[in-house]
Amino acid sequence: QTRQNAIAAVTNYTPTVEPLNFSETSPTEVFGSNVFNDKVMKNMLPKDIYKSLMATKQSGEEMDPAIAGPIAAAMKEWAISKGATHYTHVFYPLTGLTAEKHDGFLSPDGEGGAFAEFDAKLLIQGEPDASSFPSGGLRATFEARGYTAWDVTNPAYILENPNGTFLCIPTAFISWKGHALDKKTPLLRANQAINKAGRRFLGLFGNDDGEMVVSNAGPEQEYFLLDRNFYFARPDLMVCGRTLFGAKPAKGQELDDHYFGAIPRRVLAFMLEVERELYKLGVPVKTRHNEVAPGQFEIAPVFEQANLATDHNQMIMTTLKAVGKRYGMACLLHEKPFAGINGSGKHLNYSLSTPTQGSLYSPGATPHENMQFLAITAATIRAVEKFGKLLRATVATAGNDHRLGANEAPPAIISIFLGGELAEIFNQIEMGDLKGTKAKGKLRVGVDTLPPLPMDSGDRNRTSPFAFTGNRFEFRAVGSNQSIAGSQVALNTIMSESLDFMCDEIEKITKGDPKKLSSACQKVIKGIMEKHGHVIFNGDGYADAWQKEAEKRGLPNLKTTVDALPNLIDEEVVKVFSDYGVLSKDEMYSRHEIFFEQYNQHVQTESALVVKIAKTIILPSAIRYQGELAATAASLKAAGIEPTLGTLSELTDKLRQLQKTTEALEELMAQNSFKSVEEEAKFKTDKILPAMLDVREVADALEGMVADDLWPLPSYQEMLFIK
Ligand code: ADP
Ligand code: MG
Repeated sequence: QTRQNAIAAVTNYTPTVEPLNFSETSPTEVFGSNVFNDKVMKNMLPKDIYKSLMATKQSGEEMDPAIAGPIAAAMKEWAISKGATHYTHVFYPLTGLTAEKHDGFLSPDGEGGAFAEFDAKLLIQGEPDASSFPSGGLRATFEARGYTAWDVTNPAYILENPNGTFLCIPTAFISWKGHALDKKTPLLRANQAINKAGRRFLGLFGNDDGEMVVSNAGPEQEYFLLDRNFYFARPDLMVCGRTLFGAKPAKGQELDDHYFGAIPRRVLAFMLEVERELYKLGVPVKTRHNEVAPGQFEIAPVFEQANLATDHNQMIMTTLKAVGKRYGMACLLHEKPFAGINGSGKHLNYSLSTPTQGSLYSPGATPHENMQFLAITAATIRAVEKFGKLLRATVATAGNDHRLGANEAPPAIISIFLGGELAEIFNQIEMGDLKGTKAKGKLRVGVDTLPPLPMDSGDRNRTSPFAFTGNRFEFRAVGSNQSIAGSQVALNTIMSESLDFMCDEIEKITKGDPKKLSSACQKVIKGIMEKHGHVIFNGDGYADAWQKEAEKRGLPNLKTTVDALPNLIDEEVVKVFSDYGVLSKDEMYSRHEIFFEQYNQHVQTESALVVKIAKTIILPSAIRYQGELAATAASLKAAGIEPTLGTLSELTDKLRQLQKTTEALEELMAQNSFKSVEEEAKFKTDKILPAMLDVREVADALEGMVADDLWPLPSYQEMLFIK
């Protein structure tokens, strides 16, 4: 039935919505049409108020509270004109999800009538009942409330849909004592830190022109699409977002015929609609294509400043899911929905820039500019080597464990790819002797005499977790389902520390004498290369040889969440976060606790579902088939024909194994006294996950034996190829 419905959905598919078309709707007409953006504000707000708001946005300084009233009034008028009845403070709790609490504009006037109410107070601060969001001990349970605070730097917008339209206000979510309970607050703090350290660094090179140094993010989002009929027939997909059972299909991705292939038409219609929705919200989505696995796709926006890009990525994820439904499809954001098939990640393209200088990771045209470029790149090498374990911890989730280190995603070892030419230049600096004589066999590349660097050296490496790609670094280990905030916060924090380190070291040598800058720079880079240069690796990250080589170099290989998360409370990590005012010790410990809890909950849910599906879906269908085989054997015997009992005995054997492995899993799950969340997680990694796989192995073998018409779960083949 499921199969027939899905096939009918594909073959009978006719477009219901007129696709977007730029001759009828111009790009400017649609882009940002549901955003309370600068243009709208300029039109609606008194001049001085608009100016004051812009100054706040551009300088990152505190807002004059007096301007909130007029802004709230304009926002209300605009939202109501767009059809909104409600408003919501949107916030990003530590679950990584997007949370909303809706309030109506309608307010009774006390005389039997009502009016639309929305003022400065309601704009600036909200109080969601947030007791069920994780706080990791930061908020005693009796003090359930946290509050949401308007993030002036990101624009409010309208979410318009057939089921109701409402105004969304981006907010930070904070406890009454001021602790960050969300993903946005630390990002705003880390942005401030990088601005300060970045400007100090630019100042050293005479390039601080008074403008903010901002961090940018360009997240490439991967996802799977499958027909909703299949989705609803698979409790594992519905509840966990990934298949807990399923035999390998006869045709997988071996042929690589999906990658960059023609996009199926229902999918194309879906993509166009996703894009239209996102354009309206001012999300600059740009690229779309098929990904490596069948049924897998990618959407990528043009990069933006990190805070905006992070909110926009959350909107992209929400929109993919919502629009999927309208097209009869389910969008899976899980990192590994199908075993044996490529998983989904999110490449986080990272750079630092100023409005006039552009990306600080762009090699310049002159050797002098290149000195600054080499210095910031060296600072990055140092940061990534020194805090590699932290970066690994920011991408540690139950889902991502299935992907990292498999032969498709970067390995769990954090290394940097620089590309041949750039790596060579850093080698030269490391080898070069500073007195100016030629080191034996090595060309001396003093910073003063650097050759112009290649703008885009063209060589690319898909296997590195942290790759230089011409004018940015690409952090490829982020999971498809994760918020990009965690990694972005970590990068900004460790880069602040590293830039300050560079400045300190260089200043120690120059003592303010600009003539000494280039030799000082060279000396500091050389020192960094000697201490941290082993993090550079330009080879094949998938090869076994790299695992061994990395071990020799002393690079950590943290394979699982359980190995990675403890680094969040590593002394050095806690110190750098608190030194830069990004997260306090308490806030780091709470995150450590919450992320472990989340891991445990995920595995708990999955294991419970493995038992349930094995017992109530797979076992019964196999028993039915066993009955059919037994009945056939009996009737053959009655007719005087000797039946061959091979299949029946093999099936019976597997049935017993299924029961045995399921019982073994249940027994392990019964253990529930643990001293800490960490101990529990370790138990789940070492014992529960393998026991789940034992059940799966038997069940998948049964899938290959039981009559197809009796098998209840849609197969990999069907889910991946019918679309
Ligand atoms: P590829 O798949 O080839 O790596 P894509 O075009 O899919 O590239 O995505 C690249 C992403 O990197 C885009 O989001 C793009 O806007 C972003 N990007 C480009 N330049 C920068 C930069 N300087 N800083 C941050 N992100 C950038
Ligand atoms: Mg891409």
